[in-house]
Amino acid sequence: MAEITIDTYLCSGCETCVELCPEVFRMDKVMGKAELITTNPVVTEDVFQAAAYCPEKCIAIIE
Ligand code: SF4
Repeated sequence: MAEITIDTYLCSGCETCVELCPEVFRMDKVMGKAELITTNPVVTEDVFQAAAYCPEKCIAIIE
């Protein structure tokens, strides 16, 4: 099963991933960083797109 990780140290809080894939990503408003909505999200094409467009390249999909 694929796993999604966000390197929150690198995350700039740009919200691109949330715009591209709001079913998986949301913003942690306190920290200003992206986070996963559920612990075990389904890796859809939108998730790959969010990872590809993340300007900090901090979304990893481990298959
Ligand atoms: S696209 Fe990348 S840098 Fe931007 S909020 Fe999402 S994880 Fe953070």
